[in-house]
Amino acid sequence: MKRDGFNVSLWQGRPAFIPKYDSLPSERQDVVIVGGGITGISTAIQLQKAGKKCTLIEAQEIGFGTTGGTTAHLNTMMDTTYDEIKKKFNAEAAQKVADIAQSAITLIRSNVKEYGIDCAYSMRTGYLCAKDDTQAKMLDTILESCLEVKLPAQYTGDVPTPTPYVKAISVKDQAQFHPLDYILALAQHFEAIGGRIVHDCRLTEFTEENKLLTIKTSKGEVTADALIFATHIPPGVNVLHFLCAPYRTYAVAVKLKNDNYPDALVYDLDDPYHYFRTQEVDGERYLIAGGEDHKTGHGENTHERFKCLEAYVRKYYDIDHVAYQWSSQYYEPADGLPYIGHLPGNPENVYVATGFGGNGMIYGTASAMILTALITTGHSEYGDLFSPDRTKPMASMGNVIKEGAAVTKDMITGWLSIPKLEEAVELAKGEAKVVKYEGKTIALYKDNNGGLHAVNPACPHIKCSVGWNNTEKSWDCPCHGSRFSYTGELLTGPSTSDLDKIDLKAE
Ligand SMILES: Cc1cc2nc3c(=O)[nH]c(=O)nc-3n(C[C@H](O)[C@H](O)[C@H](O)COP(=O)(O)OP(=O)(O)OC[C@H]3O[C@@H](n4cnc5c(N)ncnc54)[C@H](O)[C@@H]3O)c2cc1C
Repeated sequence: MKRDGFNVSLWQGRPAFIPKYDSLPSERQDVVIVGGGITGISTAIQLQKAGKKCTLIEAQEIGFGTTGGTTAHLNTMMDTTYDEIKKKFNAEAAQKVADIAQSAITLIRSNVKEYGIDCAYSMRTGYLCAKDDTQAKMLDTILESCLEVKLPAQYTGDVPTPTPYVKAISVKDQAQFHPLDYILALAQHFEAIGGRIVHDCRLTEFTEENKLLTIKTSKGEVTADALIFATHIPPGVNVLHFLCAPYRTYAVAVKLKNDNYPDALVYDLDDPYHYFRTQEVDGERYLIAGGEDHKTGHGENTHERFKCLEAYVRKYYDIDHVAYQWSSQYYEPADGLPYIGHLPGNPENVYVATGFGGNGMIYGTASAMILTALITTGHSEYGDLFSPDRTKPMASMGNVIKEGAAVTKDMITGWLSIPKLEEAVELAKGEAKVVKYEGKTIALYKDNNGGLHAVNPACPHIKCSVGWNNTEKSWDCPCHGSRFSYTGELLTGPSTSDLDKIDLKAE
């Protein structure tokens, strides 16, 4: 399966999903869902089951986005802790988050059962560990707030990893699974009950007239009564881009020399935190570890992050070899909770689900429940809490763009000479740089065969200058997380178009 990065994740060794249809339906749809990750597919199947006629469109193929590069813990112990939610919102909000997280795990379990999905779904106990007194105090507060929202949490002295700790808590009834096996099976069942999936179909724009939406895509148009952006971050320019900060995070799946694989989900309290879990894939056990997060486009040498992560794992485990290493993107919401519901600044029948942080397996599934309730009944008990309209409208969208990144305005026309470029810019094979050349700013990459690839570094979204991600071999925008291949092809929105290619000639 394809993914939005150069590195191959533990999950990708599956044949790509082949949809039944290659074109959009001519008849009006009840709902068009954009995006074939866990959010889009879970939502599509819920709506179709609720009697809605649905089409899911995906710019690439099912699982291409972060769902193909996740680590798939199913936890009710969320990244934004319950005490933080209580402080920023209130106690009722904390309880609602705990309830919907539990319901999301229950929905995944019932889908696995109902459709007989073989995705190695299994229940696990989660552990959270403090390594010093400061972290121990944080842990006390976390445990107290977990108990307030009725999580089965308690202190433990029995953490099943060799990492040192001074205090730890355990939380029962967490889970794990193979995320692509799960969504591929859901996609199949969605089609089996009458839904339509169209691959290589990118939404480019939409219009609304008398509540009817006309959705324009790279494969033509389709009309619908409702539209859902399950695109991880919505395309185009929206207030949510200024409230969801893009981050990269790193994962490895290693084989151990012994059989010391922990059958648990284990996290520390560092910032960014590390975690361990075990997953069996095709009869082989792997220890998954993750961490080393940074803001997208701000990691100087992204490849180094894997070395740091591996060194961290080696401190505690006897590694035979690193079988997989990959990185992927998530979006951190400004107030700690995701944005699920009406897409601000758009007609009332346009919805979004974004800002999941590191809990998108849970929040993506929760989105399916919330959006299905909103579309079929006009109401969800979680609607207000997660409403994207809880954000205050920005006074001037145009002026809130920079976020510390260079904004580039260059228009690059004509072509450039390869020999002259080679002379002016020293680049090793596999290296990339944003360079100034003849008064122009150019993003230049030399591939492993010595071929040069030049693109305009101005991200089409709002013209921030992209930076090189040397491990995923992509140009990443530090402002809002758009990502492009080294040839400029769009990998991840919110941009809706490629980077401009610059013609190079051998003269
Ligand atoms: C390394 C890592 C580890 C993580 N671990 C966990 C974890 O353990 N537990 C957890 O709960 N969460 C975890 N998360 C978060 C979680 O993986 C994500 O939040 C979740 O996968 C997002 O799913 P999604 O369906 O919303 O988006 P995606 O999976 O990104 O899917 C969006 C899809 O939309 C498509 N698309 C975009 N624009 C368009 C367009 N214009 N037209 C058509 N299609 C379009 C894309 O091609 C893509 O396939 C992790 C994240 C990372 C990066």
